[in-house]
Amino acid sequence: MSDSVIHAEVLVLGGGPGGYSAAFRAADLGKKVVLVERYPVLGGVCLNVGCIPSKALLHIAQLIHELEEFKHHGINATLDLDIDKIRTWKQSVSKGLNDGLAKLVKQRKITLIQGVGQFTGSNAIEVTESTGKQTVTFDNAIIAAGSHPTKIPGFPHDDPRLMDSTDALELKSIPEKLLIVGGGIIGLEMATVYHALGAEISVVELMDQIIPGCDKDLITPLFRRIKKQYQNIWLETRVKSIEALAEGLKVSFEGKDAPESEIFDQVLVAVGRRPNGKLINAEAAGVTVNEQGFIPVDKQQRTNVAHIFAIGDIVGNPMLAHKAEHEGKVAAEVIAGHKVAFEALTIPSVAYTDPEIAWMGLTENQAKEQGIAYEKGAFPWAASGRSLSNGRNEGITKILCDPDTGRILGAGMTGNNAGELIAEAVLALEMGADAHDIGLTIHAHPTLSETFAFAAEMVTGTITDLYIKK
Ligand code: NAD
Repeated sequence: MSDSVIHAEVLVLGGGPGGYSAAFRAADLGKKVVLVERYPVLGGVCLNVGCIPSKALLHIAQLIHELEEFKHHGINATLDLDIDKIRTWKQSVSKGLNDGLAKLVKQRKITLIQGVGQFTGSNAIEVTESTGKQTVTFDNAIIAAGSHPTKIPGFPHDDPRLMDSTDALELKSIPEKLLIVGGGIIGLEMATVYHALGAEISVVELMDQIIPGCDKDLITPLFRRIKKQYQNIWLETRVKSIEALAEGLKVSFEGKDAPESEIFDQVLVAVGRRPNGKLINAEAAGVTVNEQGFIPVDKQQRTNVAHIFAIGDIVGNPMLAHKAEHEGKVAAEVIAGHKVAFEALTIPSVAYTDPEIAWMGLTENQAKEQGIAYEKGAFPWAASGRSLSNGRNEGITKILCDPDTGRILGAGMTGNNAGELIAEAVLALEMGADAHDIGLTIHAHPTLSETFAFAAEMVTGTITDLYIKK
């Protein structure tokens, strides 16, 4: 097929949550938009091989765990897992959302091109499609080309028993013994899934804590629980090598408590993600890409080239879909002439483990490192009627406030639905609420959301659900 040329007022490269949000907002603001996506479906890593399929599987894991735990409380169900059906269900969740996005593209009259885009100049990109090549010229571009899983050199990556997160989500089989390299969010979420589906789990983490960076008191309830469930959690341990043998993957370790080596049926490597900045020929457009592959941008998401913007994983951490979506809208609005910038006060983090961990704003680790004074209120879920009714007593909700003004600086929660509950804390921070505002807001009883008000009451000294000695 011969090359053809089309023109876009706004070209968006990448159809993940950041890219499609940018494209939709630009179209809604009256721009002629071309969206380029390499895969046949929109939604990127998040919708196809990340957040959404993992949450579908985590929901199944939660059902399994709850059934098992309520065996002690009168529910005598027998579990009979059909992995094929579980896989099909998981795929159907993503498919429904893919179809929804395709509809939204049509409704907004966006031109969608499936192919791999590479810049050829400061106002042009070439898209290699299955049927040929197409050039798109543009007035403005938004780069939303995402990231890919980090590979550790020397590991036998061609062996199908060595998985990345995409492979693990395919759920081809449930290994008897699974090693997870990396005790970060992906590693621990997939550990939750595979443990529920019957695998024996070992986790190896380089640092002295799982989910390094997260405050220790938030991690403790999760760590205590998985320490009992999993075969091993090796901290401060490095994987030296992985050797592919007929009987399994032989993994050699270097660290505190780990054995010299052990054989596993499968190994999942989840040691972070790398930005795709070096894969799009950005230099042809004059766009700066740093050593690591990130594209530096200003608060309006503008790269060093004034009419080219970048958003999402490719501009920096945290690599989170909700950050990318927000940045995508900012970029589209700036292009449409709005006087806006990325001014969010915080980006919440959630680990959808069991229990979930969520935090936002200032952490205690950061406050200590930066010498920021704070007052802390923490409410244990062992005193929450709702949590106990759910059969769980191990959660915590904490709030950090400015000691002078009482204003919320940060918050964290560990327990069922912490990922949902953190939204209230984010809103409180954005609205400049103080501990009294939160404590005096009537929360429905009995709910897990009450624990946020109780934590605030621990700061104001008005708590009645616990006794605090004066
Ligand atoms: P991560 O950076 O969160 O965790 C990787 C972990 O691996 C870290 O704890 C790190 O110390 C450890 N590690 C690094 N090298 C190691 C080695 N050689 N041996 C043992 N441990 C090693 O990365 P991830 O979990 O792969 O996630 C990637 C990205 O995707 C992150 O930005 C994450 O925020 C994002 N993500 C978010 C969610 C969510 O929001 N729920 C879910 C999945 C992924």
